[in-house]
Amino acid sequence: MAAIGILALQGGVIEHRHHLQALGLAVREVRQVADLAGLRGLILPGGESTCLGRLLRLTGLGEAIVAAWRQGGLRLWGTCAGAILMATEVEGEAPHLGLMDIAIRRNAFGSQLDSFRCHALVPAVSAEPVPLVFIRAPQILRVGPDLRVLLSLDGYTAAVESPAGDLATIFHPELAESLAFHRHFAERCGLETSPTASPATRPFLARPVHVPHGVA
Ligand code: GLN
Repeated sequence: MAAIGILALQGGVIEHRHHLQALGLAVREVRQVADLAGLRGLILPGGESTCLGRLLRLTGLGEAIVAAWRQGGLRLWGTCAGAILMATEVEGEAPHLGLMDIAIRRNAFGSQLDSFRCHALVPAVSAEPVPLVFIRAPQILRVGPDLRVLLSLDGYTAAVESPAGDLATIFHPELAESLAFHRHFAERCGLETSPTASPATRPFLARPVHVPHGVA
């Protein structure tokens, strides 16, 4: 059964695995070059792009991912730090994989404390508004002419797709209670998903914010 891989060097791997498995998909964690063989798609998860970029170089996976992608058989989806890895332009830094024609600004909303959730309509992905989780997120500032913007927010692009089906999102669909983005990516990889699937519940998303005593 054709699988979707998740780059498993650092960052939010398990959450992506749960969403893909909920859709009935075969999943493989990718830690070395040999793990890429035969994959239809590869998710580059959120985490820390400097750390991920360094590990991609040390393991040789960076070069191998670019080679597999150039051959045309591997679709890529970068979430948050993963989108930074894909960008051809990273403000103030050298790019990492440099295979999606976007310019991106890291930590564009501020510190970790400026993380937030919201809902937005992304018609290419779902008829219902989808929940979006932004964690110390970047912003996409420029989008190449061949790419399709899936979601624009206040003056920046939040989700973009290539004609072949590569996807970059500055938020974390794997942390939200919706399978819409994972289903969409699987379809772009040519894989069938279970129509009745529902995501695992994530109790922490429903929890009220706790303010300790003495904190204004
Ligand atoms: N701030 C991280 C970076 O610049 C990305 C954060 C994330 O993936 N949630 O690499």
